[in-house]
Amino acid sequence: MDVGARTHVGKVRRNNEDGYLIRDGLLAVADGMGGHRAGEIASGTVLTVLRDFPFGSGEPAAELEEAMRAAHARVRQLAAEDASMAGMGTTLTVALLRPGRVHVGHVGDSRLYLWRRGELRQMTADHSVAAELLRAGQIDEAAARVHPHRHVLTRAIGALPELHVDLIEFPLEPGDGLLLCTDGLSSLVDEEDMLRVLVEHPTAQAAADALVQLALARGGIDNVTVVVARPD
Ligand code: MN
Repeated sequence: MDVGARTHVGKVRRNNEDGYLIRDGLLAVADGMGGHRAGEIASGTVLTVLRDFPFGSGEPAAELEEAMRAAHARVRQLAAEDASMAGMGTTLTVALLRPGRVHVGHVGDSRLYLWRRGELRQMTADHSVAAELLRAGQIDEAAARVHPHRHVLTRAIGALPELHVDLIEFPLEPGDGLLLCTDGLSSLVDEEDMLRVLVEHPTAQAAADALVQLALARGGIDNVTVVVARPD
């Protein structure tokens, strides 16, 4: 599998609260939020829990949900022990790769795209106020793009007692690619430009680097994280 990743603090923020994880058959991105260094701790904590989780013995979707619930519990435990971390949270988008199949666990507004036969398709639903209003038919896409609460999350790991995980799965075909990213990419680079960069770069790492560079060239207003994988 050809995999590449890049994370960057961007041009405005002082801390990088994003993170990513690549381990055997697993790709993940997380975008943390919280005061002081709490956002970094939240995203780092969930990625560490995923890194150490013993995947492979059970049913993939069940394991994925169990791992994400363990990550949620760990973030909440840390926040309960230290007032400076109270309310911290993070997005988490995970792809668990199995032969011919991808299992996705998703909470928040980071994204997973499937790159197949020259098209890029967003497979995850953003858990943001604006995206929920758009799905409910209460606003249109133009309004969602400029909605004052477009970056306000309706779900996150750790931030609220309850956790609702989206579990998605789909078959992987020869030639498919996967793109995982935080909103630091997707808020500045549209899908047409993402696809162009993927097509123009021969390796996953070159594509990941170029996508981050494009977000920086467009202002780099947020931390930006990209994972690109070409499984076969
Ligand atoms: Mn972000």
